[in-house]
Amino acid sequence: MLPQDLHIHSTWSSGDASVVPEQTIGFIADLRHARVAGISDHFELVGEDFFEDYSREVRAADLKVGMEIDGHDWVPAAEAAEADYRIFHCYDRDADYKALNRLVETGQPVIVAHPNALNTNLYRVPPECLVEINNRYIWRCDWRSYYGPFVDRFEFVMSSDAHQPNWLNQTVARYVATQLGVREKLLFGP
Ligand SMILES: [Zn+2]
Ligand SMILES: [Zn+2]
Repeated sequence: MLPQDLHIHSTWSSGDASVVPEQTIGFIADLRHARVAGISDHFELVGEDFFEDYSREVRAADLKVGMEIDGHDWVPAAEAAEADYRIFHCYDRDADYKALNRLVETGQPVIVAHPNALNTNLYRVPPECLVEINNRYIWRCDWRSYYGPFVDRFEFVMSSDAHQPNWLNQTVARYVATQLGVREKLLFGP
């Protein structure tokens, strides 16, 4: 069993073409592939008005409530929605780095999603943020040179970014973390 997986999508993100109908909250909860698992559906796909319904279903399954925020435009609404942690798409734009500072002020964990896939400049990311080693994207870059300089600046989390049941693993992410000498940060107690 994995210690932690906080980046998982469910049918609440079914507007995302990669999500399959079998990827239900119930299935993810039953599978129990991680000791602490959290659902982080796309905030704009869940919709502000339905976030509470989403949150209730996630909590009822004994999973943590997260969300994935697509850039600064969504931050005010995303901040107002109650969650245990937030995952952020930080594009290489001033407004997105500013938004990260704002999210950090909530006092809740802020995870920078697959920065290598978005060309995030990690020098501009506040060190209070957690940096994700994302199983779906990590191998699509020269991860030694992209992440290597930052192993002491940040704490890291590993995630599956699963959109389908067979993606519920962190095999490549864990290989890379070991190679980089990164220890994962566990965000929630036992
Ligand atoms: Zn993403
Ligand atoms: Zn995602």
